[in-house]
Amino acid sequence: MPTTRTQGALIVISGPSGVGKTTIVHRVREELNAIFSVSATTRPKSDRETDGVDYYFVTSERFEELVQERAFLEHAEVFHCHRYGTLKEPVEKVLAKGNLMLLDIDVQGGVQVHQNMPESLRFFILPPSEDELLRRLTERGRDDADSIERRFSEAKQEILFASESGAYDFFIVNDNLELAVAETVAIIKKCQDTAQSAP
Ligand code: ADP
Ligand code: 5GP
Repeated sequence: MPTTRTQGALIVISGPSGVGKTTIVHRVREELNAIFSVSATTRPKSDRETDGVDYYFVTSERFEELVQERAFLEHAEVFHCHRYGTLKEPVEKVLAKGNLMLLDIDVQGGVQVHQNMPESLRFFILPPSEDELLRRLTERGRDDADSIERRFSEAKQEILFASESGAYDFFIVNDNLELAVAETVAIIKKCQDTAQSAP
């Protein structure tokens, strides 16, 4: 049963590509009745994605306009390739209503959110092993070989950067999906309870 909550919170989920962020974010969203933040990106849409649901797929020109308009809470160029950003307005609206907002963003974005909204909760998802990460990236069947190689080769640096940045409060190993989701949900609930009982 989804939990009804009264205190808004911003939850950041980061981790290397293929580790299971999307899967975990959507499970946590269901369990906590949270809202998923739809990012804007210049990356091309894959066949299995829907514009406005998975991302707002925009041109580079439109993305730059949004940057100039200061429409982003955070934004970054990921894999030295495409730009991604979290729109500020929907986040502010969800938090103002006392709801939970879930962000699936990279480590550069996580660092910016840590700086701009230190009261947010930031999780970094780790793979059980490098081999398993490569298997998940490949089996997902979404990216071409070049993209899989780029994403896999970035993973080690991302993990190192995340652990040294100090931007992440919690590191969760996504080996068994059910356990990873349960651990994440339990931490969020505990932090919410603590915040609500604070004077
Ligand atoms: P990300 O959003 O981090 O790139 P995804 O959520 O798309 O990763 O997951 C990548 C692939 O790994 C998907 O095919 C997903 O079903 C699978 N997956 C996610 N978590 C697990 C897990 N704990 N064990 C096995 N496969 C998983
Ligand atoms: P993908 O192309 O696999 O959907 O996402 C690639 C990477 O971009 C992932 O690490 C994902 O978390 C990150 N990402 C998605 N949206 C955003 C965003 O709004 N901001 C930032 N900084 N990263 C994002």
